[in-house]
Amino acid sequence: MKNNKLWLASLFWVPVLAQAQPQDKPNIIIIFADDLGYGDLSCYAHPTIYTPNLDQMAHEGMRFTQFYNAACVCTPSRAGLLTGRLPIRSGMAGSESSGNVIYPGSTGGLPLSEITIAEALKDVDYQTAIIGKWHLGHLPQYLPLNQGFDYFFGIPYSNDMAPPLYKNAPELPLFENENVIESGPDQHLLTKRYTEKAINFIEKNSDQPFFLYYASNFPHTPLFASNDFSGKSKRGLYGDVVEELDWSVGEVLKTVKKLGLSEKTLVIFTSDNGPWLLRGENGGSAGLLRDGKGSTCEGGFRVPAIAWWPGTIKSDQTSADIISTMDLFPTIVKLAAASLPEDRIIDGKDISPVLFGEKIEMDNKVVFYYFKNEIYAIRKGPWKAHFITKPSYSKIPPEVHTPPLLYNIEHDPSEKYDVSENYPDIIKDIIDLKEKHEAGITLVESQLDKGGR
Ligand code: MG
Repeated sequence: MKNNKLWLASLFWVPVLAQAQPQDKPNIIIIFADDLGYGDLSCYAHPTIYTPNLDQMAHEGMRFTQFYNAACVCTPSRAGLLTGRLPIRSGMAGSESSGNVIYPGSTGGLPLSEITIAEALKDVDYQTAIIGKWHLGHLPQYLPLNQGFDYFFGIPYSNDMAPPLYKNAPELPLFENENVIESGPDQHLLTKRYTEKAINFIEKNSDQPFFLYYASNFPHTPLFASNDFSGKSKRGLYGDVVEELDWSVGEVLKTVKKLGLSEKTLVIFTSDNGPWLLRGENGGSAGLLRDGKGSTCEGGFRVPAIAWWPGTIKSDQTSADIISTMDLFPTIVKLAAASLPEDRIIDGKDISPVLFGEKIEMDNKVVFYYFKNEIYAIRKGPWKAHFITKPSYSKIPPEVHTPPLLYNIEHDPSEKYDVSENYPDIIKDIIDLKEKHEAGITLVESQLDKGGR
């Protein structure tokens, strides 16, 4: 302490800080958009998409500017989120011969030996539900009720995985728990129905800890908005869909507030990967980031993210810490006083101090940008080295870079200026890191190789 005044002030600060500590077993809500890009919300500077509820959520909480997924496509990204582990460890990463994700003809799924956030929270008596998209295996043994969820309402994979795009697939199945309750549900109503189910679940469990994983099927294409939102956005149909999702988030938060659960509930909003640029005007925007879904450039992995927990997370915070969806598993386990599995590698780190506004050392944090089972790029602190690049969804073969391209992505988030010539030591450090990491990976059978499309 520099002087007595400050020391005196610290005496008064202690009880305030103590009060800000989280309550026992907070409710956890993760809202996971599908293919929403870094630049698609008004609070991330989109000029014509209007997202007042997410903006308000950010205003009341913390907005992240360097928040990453475990992968740049749906299935591995979701596996990483729910297990806290790089998808390559669970066999959910794909291989040279497999597709990128699980398809209606696939017969694999997230192995039951994996431990999901829902399973970890079941151990400490949470009620758990997934509303929306699963995409971690749709054969009966892989459905959410076998992975720690008490309730499932939604679609087992992407909302385009039906005829005419997938000729041999059945009509899109809408599940409730283990049963298909509708084939080919009207997708215009999906966001409204998901919202209703999410609200019901929160209301029903208002007197006990719960985990709600609300994984919207949107704004993945094909795009559908209800009548209330259709034709309203200046951004066209894509904007309509994002604005309806924003409304849905608002309804969830309104319910939490109405039930007096705000100070007991951590809500996290983010997206599973970057925008699907291949879809043209029906795909989103990664803002100033390069490329989108399917790419190991920033636009594929870095997404908007907001955390909200009144009384614990201070309002109007922006964090530029390097954070991954894989960090949510250990963070949530910590907050819920559950236990972390000790018999496996968990890649995520507890980031609860960031939520509490405490400074922790994260400047050298590492991000692995896998494409299927291969490392294309590694970020360490501000430096990102690209060993392999390939434009997303293109027929152009991957290009190997020796030495790797190097960007300072805190100076150059658009990955425009290769500075590899100037920093041989940093390149060497990242190459060493890659070798060490790869030596620690045990290859397991890829679940994405099983079955057809
Ligand atoms: Mg996706």
